[in-house]
Amino acid sequence: MTKKKVIVMVVAALLAGALARAYVQQVTLPKRGLEKSAAAAGIPRHAVIAHRGASYLAPEETAPAYVLARDMGADLLEGDIQRTKDGVLVLLHSHAVGETTNAAQLFPGRANDPVDRFTLAELKRLDAGSWFNAAHPRRARAGYAGLKILTLDELVTLAESGTANRPALYLETKSPERFPGVERDLVELLRRRGWLGTFPGPERRAKVIFQSFRPESLARLRELAPEVPRVRLFGSKLFDRAAWDAMTREIAGGGAQGVGPTAYLCWPWNVSTAHRAGLLVHPYTVNAVWQFRILALLGADDGCFTDRCDQSLRFYGRPLLGQPEAILARNGY
Ligand code: CA
Repeated sequence: MTKKKVIVMVVAALLAGALARAYVQQVTLPKRGLEKSAAAAGIPRHAVIAHRGASYLAPEETAPAYVLARDMGADLLEGDIQRTKDGVLVLLHSHAVGETTNAAQLFPGRANDPVDRFTLAELKRLDAGSWFNAAHPRRARAGYAGLKILTLDELVTLAESGTANRPALYLETKSPERFPGVERDLVELLRRRGWLGTFPGPERRAKVIFQSFRPESLARLRELAPEVPRVRLFGSKLFDRAAWDAMTREIAGGGAQGVGPTAYLCWPWNVSTAHRAGLLVHPYTVNAVWQFRILALLGADDGCFTDRCDQSLRFYGRPLLGQPEAILARNGY
């Protein structure tokens, strides 16, 4: 071997060593102890979080989206809580009711109105499925036309009606400033339905996790139901590392169990700061296998919000408990 070759090999070995050391320090070490805190909070490891249900395959936040997620084997059914004019909690992501419904036809001039300007009876007249068929012709199904907006009460019933799988709920207080007292309504409904604690069994899996972009909403939920794990969401404008670190400290100080950042903020140094603060990291919204792979490499794989819980299950080597076509057919969609 020439002297030059030896030098190249030594330099390569040193570089590989430095990289491995950095990886262990940035990714592996900060995760120590996290499994314990996740287990203590009753949150599954590599949680498969069905974002608005299996919303790639069915209209978001409707019954078939949640039935699919439940029966394919998702750990958590994610949904957005808003409140009607007459005080009923419903699941809808959009601020404008007409975005995923036919409100423009049924209630001319009100399509951009928010949920709190509609009574439940009015919302129940809307078709929350046909928009999906028009937007995604290849995934369209006749059974999606005429789907109804779900109430939270109906979602709880759906979650507890699974036979093969018993998913937990992952509920977001959406724009809580629009709905004063929504946290109390939410906790009261879940308490009445017996959905604040943990599932029976040695894992003591939490039946529900709360999430919000608003710290004051999470603080209120902590007062009302301290036993329920909480995750603080955040989005853009945190490219600055110091801002991320400050945010993480604030979240950990607020007693939350995790952070839900948009996935492109999951740089290893950000993820490790959160992990060192004892916070789980649940990025949103992750739909492709290559994205799951990268996030796993970066250590940001405590759980992912995904429209494609089927992909997420496969990525973690968990066979689907049921095939989408069979589940939809069995349930009349
Ligand atoms: Ca949400």
